[in-house]
Amino acid sequence: ETFNFSPGPSCLPKEVLLKAQEDTLNWNGSGISVMEMSHRSKEFIEIMQNAENDFRELMEIPEEFEILMLPAGGSMQFSAVPMNLLTKNKKANYLVFGSWGKSAINHAKRYADDITEVVDPDSIGNTIPDFSTWKIDPEAKYFHYCDNETIYGIEINDFPFEELKDQLLVCDMSSNICSRKVDWSKYGLVYAATQKNIGPAGVCMVIIRKDLIEEPMTITPDVASYKKYADAPYRCFNTPCTWSIYVCGLNLAIMKEKGIEAIEEEALLKSGMIYKVIDESDGFYINSIDKKYRSRLNVVFNIKDDKELEAKFVEDAAKNGLISVKGHKSVGGLRASIYNSMPVRGVEKLAEFMKKFQEENQQ
Ligand code: PLP
Repeated sequence: ETFNFSPGPSCLPKEVLLKAQEDTLNWNGSGISVMEMSHRSKEFIEIMQNAENDFRELMEIPEEFEILMLPAGGSMQFSAVPMNLLTKNKKANYLVFGSWGKSAINHAKRYADDITEVVDPDSIGNTIPDFSTWKIDPEAKYFHYCDNETIYGIEINDFPFEELKDQLLVCDMSSNICSRKVDWSKYGLVYAATQKNIGPAGVCMVIIRKDLIEEPMTITPDVASYKKYADAPYRCFNTPCTWSIYVCGLNLAIMKEKGIEAIEEEALLKSGMIYKVIDESDGFYINSIDKKYRSRLNVVFNIKDDKELEAKFVEDAAKNGLISVKGHKSVGGLRASIYNSMPVRGVEKLAEFMKKFQEENQQ
């Protein structure tokens, strides 16, 4: 059995893949593939509506939020957010503590008049600077941050909601959506690419408070306009990523049955198993992220300072059916991405492998 620890696109449950295989050949006995179905057909509209309903139910998203399934993944939102929200007030706060947050701020600078860097984006490292040091523009239209930095393995687990209650919060939850409860009363807009915790790539879930949807900047392409989608029949302004949305729907139905509390518990259990091996390795494995901000989804680590041993780890792990444990090219090292669809037994196998690898390679 192969376990895929890729940061995304990531593994999906076997039952999702099997059902997708069947429907990709012949959807519901119709003689055509789900991929070939018109996005205007009653059948596809039902698929999309069910996916949306299951997502809403799983994440307890109130009716005052619109759910849009937009094209072009998470990166499109780095531009779409400022283009749609900074129409009059062109000021925004950006909290950056990793490379995705940095990407978001760099895109926003193209459209904003004045961006406040809440912390120095060049000082990002292994922690999140204390709230008391944050610089915040009280007049800004919104406050943007990324909840889980996929590459650095940092997740913000104690966001200062109370202190920021007057700010309109916008959050990139691409790599930790559907892994814990969200208090929607705190947010104006949350977006999440689907290829980690939900399904295949290409789609971005945009959950936006309905009163925030208005005419975007005139330069905005229609495919980045929240209003165009929200006003279109079935929120399909153009042809959506039909097959990806269909597979997301299969997985969302399973997650809804499991429930968000059980998923959250499992995320802690699974990441905890790997952090335990790291912490008990006597410095063989190193994770230098501030413990309170360790990501539950992306466990990054190094082997001492030994790049050769890290390369051997990647190779040996693959021979043992544990694939994609290499860190992002920008930071190197190792990374195990443990999203919802990774079974506990896959993580157990990785933990066992790590212990054995240490025994065999420690001088
Ligand atoms: N935001 C986060 C936190 C991510 O991890 C990623 C991708 O890995 C993105 C945004 C970009 O998403 P996409 O590749 O779908 O554009």
